[in-house]
Amino acid sequence: MDIGLIGLGVMGQNLTLNFQSHGYSVVVYNRTEQRTKEFAAKHPEISAAYTLHEFIQSLDRPHRIFLMVTAGSPVDATISNLTVLLSPGDVLIDGGNSHFQDTERRSTELAKRSVHFLGVGVSGGEEGALKGPCLMVGGNREGYEHVRKMLTKIAAQADGPCCQFLGPRGAGHYVKMVHNGIEYAIIQVIAEAYDLLTRAIGLDIKEVHDAFNEWNQGDMNSFLIEIATQVLRKYDEEKRVPLVSLILDRAQQKGTGKWTSQNAMDLGVPIPTIDAAVSARNLSALKDERLQASKILKPPAKSSYLERSLVGRLKDAVQASILVSYAQGFHLLRAASREYGYDIPLEEVARIWKGGCIIRAKVLDSIENAFRSSKDLQNLVLDRQLSKLLLKLEKNWREVIKGAKDAAVPIPATTASLDYYDGYRSERSPANLIQALRDRFGAHCYERIDRPGKFHTDWTT
Ligand code: NAP
Repeated sequence: MDIGLIGLGVMGQNLTLNFQSHGYSVVVYNRTEQRTKEFAAKHPEISAAYTLHEFIQSLDRPHRIFLMVTAGSPVDATISNLTVLLSPGDVLIDGGNSHFQDTERRSTELAKRSVHFLGVGVSGGEEGALKGPCLMVGGNREGYEHVRKMLTKIAAQADGPCCQFLGPRGAGHYVKMVHNGIEYAIIQVIAEAYDLLTRAIGLDIKEVHDAFNEWNQGDMNSFLIEIATQVLRKYDEEKRVPLVSLILDRAQQKGTGKWTSQNAMDLGVPIPTIDAAVSARNLSALKDERLQASKILKPPAKSSYLERSLVGRLKDAVQASILVSYAQGFHLLRAASREYGYDIPLEEVARIWKGGCIIRAKVLDSIENAFRSSKDLQNLVLDRQLSKLLLKLEKNWREVIKGAKDAAVPIPATTASLDYYDGYRSERSPANLIQALRDRFGAHCYERIDRPGKFHTDWTT
């Protein structure tokens, strides 16, 4: 058998079918036997193993194994059961959403046994896994060469295969984590636009659908806006209203957005749009408290809806905020690449994100070009073409935020994006006062703009 797949959850099953449809022979194994039996009954053309020993025996050498189990301790448990059966030179791939630091640890441990370990970020959901995911590969380069052909074949295609080796050890899972952070930010920006269009401007859901649909035709074309239009046109057959209006407004999360924010804090990289998106989900989860607060903290009385002309302006605000979300994510990748020695090719990240993955979007063409024309680009907002675009969008972006504040509709990710943009391009910040205060209460010293050195002042005299 060419490859073995462990973990027959929704992703594992679809990846198996994807490998098989590309002509590879696959053997599957799952902890719970019943799931394997059900899968084997549905797909008799695929080999199934009921012990890990039998599983390994059926594989060609070097053994190539793809793990697709729940991230965290299940990955360690599976690796621990497997290691006695592995030989030097075997290739073990973890395709789940593992934390990159777990992947770092597992890489070191498996390298001691000369097992080639790859941490592969898989994006595209169940449909992507079946028809062509985006694969962000990190780990052992030699091991990658043993599976490169297979992975590039099953991946989505967009200007080449959406599969790329992005660096050693945890690099692939790091890039996937940041991908998910950007995904949180974009989803929040889209949700804020929907909130403004309905609550502040007074559009019905059909009109919101039409606005999103129009946005999706041009430069803002993206998978997330496209699926937002699909979601908005779905009706509940029983109640005969748009289904979205019946969904409880309490967002859940699996943690990858939070990991992105946590790691950005560790590295000292500002990603306020992603932070705002994570916080907004946390706030949404406080449904009972929000209900109580809405009765006490009544919003300002609304005499009328905001002008409809804001709909066109909102398009610019969404476009700018989405671009800034990518800028923050790539800024973080750049810093992490240096910090962890990953040497991540950012232009290739932009390229492979153009297909298969959840954040695929037309703007990635410009992002890829920006990194191809300047490898040292500090921040996407500094690219000649993208900076021009932001300058063009800025006026409407600001108008929309003013309108939202007047209407008391929270748009934290859109606002954080503009604040990031304004802060990043500010020659002067108020951090001089912060430094003075720190020195006043904690004798932390400060630097001066008129001479070098560290200074402390007795501020009380
Ligand atoms: P899932 O449907 O919940 O399946 C989880 C799989 O993990 C099952 O095969 C389960 O086996 C196995 N498992 C759980 N605990 C185990 C343990 N202690 N030991 C051995 N096996 C164990 O998950 P999924 O959605 O396919 O996701 C799999 C991985 O891909 C996760 O890391 C997820 O974050 C990642 N991912 C998911 C998506 C998505 O859209 N769903 C997209 C990208 C990445 P049993 O049958 O024995 O319980």
